[in-house]
Amino acid sequence: MVCTQCGSKHVVINRKYNGQKLCSSCFRKSIEKQVLKTVKKEKLVTKNDKVLVALSGGKDSVALLKILNILKEKNIIELEALTIDEGIAGYRQEGVRIAKETTAKLGIKHHIVSFEDKYNFTIDKIMELQKKSDNPQHACTYCGVFRRQIFNQIARDIGATKLATGHNLDDEVQSIVMNYLEGNINNMVRIGYKTESSDERFTQKIKPLRKIPEKEIGLYVLESGFEVHFDGCPYAHESFRMEIGDFIREATLKHPTIMYSTLNGFEKIKPAIKKEYLQQQKGSANKTCKKCGEPSSADICKSCKFLDEIYEQLGDEQ
Ligand SMILES: [Zn+2]
Ligand SMILES: [Zn+2]
Repeated sequence: MVCTQCGSKHVVINRKYNGQKLCSSCFRKSIEKQVLKTVKKEKLVTKNDKVLVALSGGKDSVALLKILNILKEKNIIELEALTIDEGIAGYRQEGVRIAKETTAKLGIKHHIVSFEDKYNFTIDKIMELQKKSDNPQHACTYCGVFRRQIFNQIARDIGATKLATGHNLDDEVQSIVMNYLEGNINNMVRIGYKTESSDERFTQKIKPLRKIPEKEIGLYVLESGFEVHFDGCPYAHESFRMEIGDFIREATLKHPTIMYSTLNGFEKIKPAIKKEYLQQQKGSANKTCKKCGEPSSADICKSCKFLDEIYEQLGDEQ
């Protein structure tokens, strides 16, 4: 087997979906080229954008930072990274360490915000409280809301014009199939390369890795000599997503192009369902949370609502 680009004998990947066999160097270049092409074609960034990368220290966000750094070095964009430490013992510390080292290596300004410093509790603590609750909520419910609030605030504080996340092809195809199967059209119309914000106070989110399979991102960071952590969050019992992920991976073995055809097919029907369904969403006017002043669809935002509940529970404990 030889590299179909340069003829080298050290092939690191055999892409069944397009017949390419690539050596380490040609493979890394092809990933970078593909991502930068997506960025350009979908207009994910424009010159002088200030991009804030959501950096967990996992393979996707590290790959994303490394590739966007190419645009930083060409003086096309400004780049900073944000790591959120939710306080998950035995899991997050490693990610924070890797995020620190990666940003230091690339010379990128790094922000770290912990739930502990900001809210005075950790997600571990919340989950302890949940065990005693009559109606326990999943960790992701809280995590998602608080993380979103922190990302929005930091993005605004530093004047970021884009917020980049490391969602890959597998993540996106899982979301598409899940929402199809659940009949959740409202969620489906929101899947895409970038968010179309309902409120200008929200920084636009972009997903430059959306066309790259998860496996290739893992290989890309390893071949680039970057350290990442592959552990999953201990609270991530998103069983339906995991089931769908297993099913898609299984199907891909026999049908190598299936993830691309799912994504491309979805992109084609999206304008039609959007036209039909976005109409129904009128009336969700943008308000301002009376407690924290953040944009919200209700008088009190979800984050403040959760915070009230949690502080009450914490108070009961003491
Ligand atoms: Zn090659
Ligand atoms: Zn609020």
